[in-house]
Amino acid sequence: MQVMDIDQLKKICKQYNIKPLDSRGQNFLINNEILARIIKEAKLYKDDIVLEVGPGFGILTQELAKHTKQVIAVEIDKKLSTIFKSNFQDHKNVKLIEGDILKLKDNDPKFPATDYKIISNLPYNITSIFLRKFLSNNPKPSEMIIMLQKEVAERICAQPGQMSLLAVSVQFYAQPKILFEVSKENFWPQPKVDSAIIKIITKPAVDIHQHNHQYNVFEKDFFQIVKIGFSSKRKQLQNNLSAGLQLDNQKIKLILRQLGFKDNVRAQELSVDDWVKLVNELKKHKRKLKHFTQRK
Ligand code: SAM
Repeated sequence: MQVMDIDQLKKICKQYNIKPLDSRGQNFLINNEILARIIKEAKLYKDDIVLEVGPGFGILTQELAKHTKQVIAVEIDKKLSTIFKSNFQDHKNVKLIEGDILKLKDNDPKFPATDYKIISNLPYNITSIFLRKFLSNNPKPSEMIIMLQKEVAERICAQPGQMSLLAVSVQFYAQPKILFEVSKENFWPQPKVDSAIIKIITKPAVDIHQHNHQYNVFEKDFFQIVKIGFSSKRKQLQNNLSAGLQLDNQKIKLILRQLGFKDNVRAQELSVDDWVKLVNELKKHKRKLKHFTQRK
């Protein structure tokens, strides 16, 4: 297991005229112990198929390839892709897709069609969009082990009281957990903030009609209400709901009370289960509302 040290990285970047870009989250891992820990925590199997976003020079890829059946790596940077291809030309189980992970279609034949895992040191600037894409679209990975900004990892794993639209969105589809933190000194160039590795195990509960069986709710309805609930952070939930749904404030208050919430409850205090109950209750009261999906 061998990462490059700072001098080696600087040398190769100079040789290929690469200037690591903040805008592409190009911070390369330079600590072997962290790499070993990611591999250990990933608990890989020989028949695993792994999607890696942003392999860079292929530090993580080489270890993934040793332990799995296939690694599909997606890299946006042309120069890094060129180096990667020459480094991995003899690796039969490594496939590189050159391009933007966010622009690849779900049904792209190059993508894994069935059971797969995502393991990646993510470019930080795409975290939210990336998670939305891979948690809501099909086929979903069975799990993700990803490095992201520590603060974002904490927000994703938040409990009621500290919830956000991001936390509800991830926890609706999956169970996230912080595995360990990684300080910024472990990368070159050094990012401004610390990182964390999180494990996200997806819940296989959504059918092709985007109906979530675990929660008995349509995704569209769920997120419509959650977004309205979080629309103004400083306002109480009842005010956001009554404005967003054009429903009488007293009616909302009654619904919230029926569900056991205080009148002044705020969106960040609700768990995913609470949101599901609220969506289903609101649906009863506003059957004709265009927001809600009708069962066929
Ligand atoms: N895996 C390497 C490592 O651990 O040292 C590099 C990780 S670095 C944090 C992020 C990588 O993602 C960079 O190689 C960058 O060029 C690539 N990248 C950035 N945006 C991307 C995108 N939209 N699609 C695919 N790759 C992207």
